[in-house]
Amino acid sequence: MSGKFRTISIYCAKCSALLYKYHKGGTGGLVKCFLDLIVEDNTHGDMRCPKCRQEFARLRIIQNKPAHKIIQGKVFTKGMTRK
Ligand SMILES: [Zn+2]
Repeated sequence: MSGKFRTISIYCAKCSALLYKYHKGGTGGLVKCFLDLIVEDNTHGDMRCPKCRQEFARLRIIQNKPAHKIIQGKVFTKGMTRK
């Protein structure tokens, strides 16, 4: 595998439940999750935390692909700075 993607973990900011593991490209902050790059999905696919039911994303079509656009402040991530 190339170093193009890092696998990051995305957590609910309210209750710290693990929501997604995601193959993130690029070095910028997390803005959106393309559905086909989510490698582990702990939600029910409704863009809400499975534990506290907080809504954390909205469905958008970005570059002709379905994506979950993250609502700022609703999640936190781990693994962003790993080389
Ligand atoms: Zn939660």
